[in-house]
Amino acid sequence: MKILVINCGSSSLKYQVFNMEAENVLAKGIAERIGINNSFLKHEIKDGEKVIIEEELKDHQQAIELILQTLVSSKHGVLNDITEINAVGHRVAHGGHKFSSSVIITEEVKEDIRELFIVAPLHNPPNLQGIEAMEKLLPDVPQVAVFDTAFHQTMPKYAYLYGLPYECYEKYKIRKYGFHGTSHKYVAQRAGELLGQSWDQLKIISCHLGNGASITAIKDGKSLENTMGFTPLEGLIMGTRSGDIDPAIVSFLMIKENMNIKEIESLLNKKSGVLGISGISSDFRDLEEASKKGNERARLAIDMFVHDVKLHIGAYTAILEGLDVLIFTAGLGENGIEVRKNICINMEALGITIDETKNYVRCKEVEISKNGAKVKVLVIPTNEELMIARDTKNLVVARQLT
Ligand code: AMP
Repeated sequence: MKILVINCGSSSLKYQVFNMEAENVLAKGIAERIGINNSFLKHEIKDGEKVIIEEELKDHQQAIELILQTLVSSKHGVLNDITEINAVGHRVAHGGHKFSSSVIITEEVKEDIRELFIVAPLHNPPNLQGIEAMEKLLPDVPQVAVFDTAFHQTMPKYAYLYGLPYECYEKYKIRKYGFHGTSHKYVAQRAGELLGQSWDQLKIISCHLGNGASITAIKDGKSLENTMGFTPLEGLIMGTRSGDIDPAIVSFLMIKENMNIKEIESLLNKKSGVLGISGISSDFRDLEEASKKGNERARLAIDMFVHDVKLHIGAYTAILEGLDVLIFTAGLGENGIEVRKNICINMEALGITIDETKNYVRCKEVEISKNGAKVKVLVIPTNEELMIARDTKNLVVARQLT
């Protein structure tokens, strides 16, 4: 079975084609600058051979058309015919309270995704555009939605409710949803496999540290807590997002700076985080370099991030009533040697001690805890696309059987 996985952003579209027999990637790539000028497709096949195709891509449908053409082209193709694609899996950011697992896409599912535009304005609209474009181009192929929020639907009510009037929840479903669920679930399952133990018997804290960052507490194979909330703005200080702040700051700033809703949203989502603190960059590589040259605000931004991660590891250890496994994943979690070291330093009280030599690693599945340490600390590169492909396959196979 061959599955195409699609992750549609506002101006970009990532894709991977899986052969599910061996779960290997036949081709992958990204269409960038969709709807902007100078758009192009970067297409990569099995042995790392890359090609850039420059073409005007007015919208997501044109991008998908070009991807499908490239997948069957005689020069860079990996399929003989487009009918070889058995199903398409779509990453969808927000599934609200309705979706606790992946689903085959129907008109009703699309309507539910549309209803959530208001809470995921940056993500759900392009996700739906990708689905609708794909439906037009491959009308007979089943499509599956895999939600970033689904894994966190197991959070208990006392964890996911905010201390607001209960009517806010009843009327608008204002509650914590949690995000990056597909990634957290993948690395937690993988941790079980690597340790030769069943993941649902382990107390796990998974740190997805990328430009967007979140931490999850996992017990009995279920998410009990995630640092993100009603939207992906809550939680850790991130690349450009503020993370947790006192909500009173919003009205204070709006009054003092005469800001409107759009301006305050932009400040919190795009101008805050380690970018806002450092004044330099949202990228930890730049911050580490600047900090080494003596830039104090770059150092401060890194210290704030490290402090925040430590804080949540402590809190989640309490929620889990102990800790067996700590996982680092995503861009910074997989590559950030210094950041991992600083997060894990002086954490012996929680059973966390890492071996600096083992920690000197990037983008590899590896245990970095000291021999005999109580908590196994693992670096596990995430693979959300594979999870999406697996869910897609399972749903399509199950449908064929009924
Ligand atoms: P992601 O959003 O998962 O793609 O992660 C992107 C982030 O990972 C970047 O903004 C960097 O902060 C971080 N990152 C990637 N490579 C490195 C590296 N070699 N050292 C430190 N941070 C890195």
